[in-house]
Amino acid sequence: MDLLEYQGKQLFARHGVPVPRGRHATSVPEAQDAGEEVGYPCVVKAQVQIGGRGKAGGIKLAADRDAVGEHAQAILGMDIRGLTVHELWIEAASEIEAEYYASVVFDRSAKAPLLMLSTKGGMDIEEVAEEDPDAIARLHVDPLIGFQEFHGRRLAFEAGVDADVVRPVAAMLGKLYEVFVGEEATLVEVNPLIVTPEREVRALDAKLTLDENALYRHAENAELRDPSREDPQERMAKERGLIYVKLDGDIGILGNGAGLVMSTLDVVAEAGGSPANFLDAGGGSKAQAITSAVEVILSNPKVKAVLFNIFGGITRGDEVARGLIQAFNQIHPQVPFVVRLDGTNDEEGRRLLAQADLPNVYTEATMDGAAKRVVELAAASGNGSTRASDGARP
Ligand code: GDP
Ligand code: MN
Repeated sequence: MDLLEYQGKQLFARHGVPVPRGRHATSVPEAQDAGEEVGYPCVVKAQVQIGGRGKAGGIKLAADRDAVGEHAQAILGMDIRGLTVHELWIEAASEIEAEYYASVVFDRSAKAPLLMLSTKGGMDIEEVAEEDPDAIARLHVDPLIGFQEFHGRRLAFEAGVDADVVRPVAAMLGKLYEVFVGEEATLVEVNPLIVTPEREVRALDAKLTLDENALYRHAENAELRDPSREDPQERMAKERGLIYVKLDGDIGILGNGAGLVMSTLDVVAEAGGSPANFLDAGGGSKAQAITSAVEVILSNPKVKAVLFNIFGGITRGDEVARGLIQAFNQIHPQVPFVVRLDGTNDEEGRRLLAQADLPNVYTEATMDGAAKRVVELAAASGNGSTRASDGARP
């Protein structure tokens, strides 16, 4: 779960990470009152879960009440790379002498949190990583030992931060690590971490991703969840208790069992296709669960074809077939389906499908064959509005 900047800063404040004081606002008058409270000059900041707000015009300095009103008016409702601004954060303006970058991420391959620090803050860190990788100092923290003071000092020296702020920068890294562990985050990023003319360091921006699976241990953080900001398909799947991950492609995937679904994604990619999602219907899926899953898959407008890959163990092929028939009767899908049904009650399942004679459903005997077929059908169905020709049916 990604947090908005101001939510991240509130968590920072709770852990003692220095942040400018600020107020939340959702309307022009609220923004103006917030400006009065924090004082001038202040910064009017668009709250959307995407970086580069500054460049997009979503961050403006204001010298008085009128200026806050003008900027709030312009920023509320603004579109920043596809996201509409509904919320503002009004913050006391900071004077900036230096902009650094700091982050804690979970490095899965190293099985440990990774701290990063750079003096090239305030810009796109991916760009820095590409053009000048040595400009980013990196250090893993042994999760059993935790953050030690030397970690902070070493990173600060390696990154080349100004000598007089080595201590406060190192201390801030320790606090960020505390946030990372304490809040069960998978990302804590501060860009820029600034040094003021008074040589104070503070977090001017905050980007946090919390581990959703740990939210049950953090009641206050769970309240930060805003369903309207979540991806509509992922939200729908969650409500139906399905294990679903949205991907970028155009081939909808449904299988039973995480391992089978993952290998299905690989086989589709191998056949030259691009999966639109991961969806594990689980073991023992009943007809209703299948119908529900089909609805989730088809609610993604990018999907041009769907691959059902079922290997029946506890899951019964006839149940899957019934679910698919029920789904077709209820929602009349407009895109082709390829079904590979194997294992428990597979013959019965295939018989039911043949009997139902659903339009645009193709059965394949093998996983490879099914992947190849679905990739062809997706390519043939263009933008998804046209139906595959019936001539291709077996
Ligand atoms: P982002 O563009 O979405 O990453 O938003 P940031 O919060 O990082 O702000 C972008 C840039 O705006 C920063 O790198 C700063 O250069 C500038 N900025 C933000 N807040 C202040 C402030 O209080 N004072 C000054 N002088 N600049 C600010
Ligand atoms: Mn930033």
